[in-house]
Amino acid sequence: MLSYKGTIYRPPIEAYTLLLPVTEGCSHNRCKFCNMYRDVKFRMLDLSEIDAWLNEVQRVNGDYCTEIERIYLVGADPFAISASNLERVINLIRKYLPNVKVVSMYAAIRNIMSKTDAQLERLKNLGVNDLYVGIESGLDDVLSYLTKGNTVEDIRRQCQRLNAIGIRHMSLLMTGAAGKGRGVESALATAELMNEIKPDKILLTTMSAFPDTKLAQEIDEGKFTLAGETEILTEEKILLENLNLPTTYFWAAHSLDSVRIAGYLDKNRDEMIHTLETAIENMDDEHFRQTFQRNHL
Ligand code: SF4
Repeated sequence: MLSYKGTIYRPPIEAYTLLLPVTEGCSHNRCKFCNMYRDVKFRMLDLSEIDAWLNEVQRVNGDYCTEIERIYLVGADPFAISASNLERVINLIRKYLPNVKVVSMYAAIRNIMSKTDAQLERLKNLGVNDLYVGIESGLDDVLSYLTKGNTVEDIRRQCQRLNAIGIRHMSLLMTGAAGKGRGVESALATAELMNEIKPDKILLTTMSAFPDTKLAQEIDEGKFTLAGETEILTEEKILLENLNLPTTYFWAAHSLDSVRIAGYLDKNRDEMIHTLETAIENMDDEHFRQTFQRNHL
């Protein structure tokens, strides 16, 4: 019988991509703000389980299987599994979906770090592309406070390795990650980092203190203060203004984002900034706090 432990999360922009479970849980599971995989032990599914899921894909899709060109591997960071195991998974996928061209997934910085250039090159040639990487902020002390498990320099090095090899990557950012009073500083540092690592897409969400997280506990203890909404939107505006990435797609339409904008930086930046400015001008932080809840994903 097919089974999968934990909730399935996938990037919103992969809504129409075929999902294939490959790992359960998160290989890190320590970020202070995250409760997505708290109670799920990290593991790679056995190849026999993945085979069973693919069998089901074939049963449901029939001949359409030959038309499927993109697949998204489910899990917090399936890129955590070894290059040889990823290769086994992709070979299995090809048995059922012979024309798959892009194999996308979440990938943490440490997952990239653990692979050699030769392994990355080989994975790229097998179709691995469009890796979603949790960056959050361009400030080292923020990454350290949030226990992300990597530094800004790690991000810089590993994403530049992906660029050199030709694997596209998407940056997941979090406005408000630096807390009250540091929005401008975080926006400028994050924009600088983005300009260096050149993600294909930037996906932005807003810092939220889910009730059962260490972050929520530390807010209660007075160790961290969430930024107000005006500061969060101002941070987003300054980030947008300072990105020098003409072809990058910017997406900030998560359910946790109060103002939803999306577009290409070369074509839509001005209108996105205008939308943010209008929201900032009309923002009443106190009214917002009472009416917009960020308690769950
Ligand atoms: S944010 Fe990502 S890396 Fe951090 S604990 Fe959650 S799933 Fe794992």
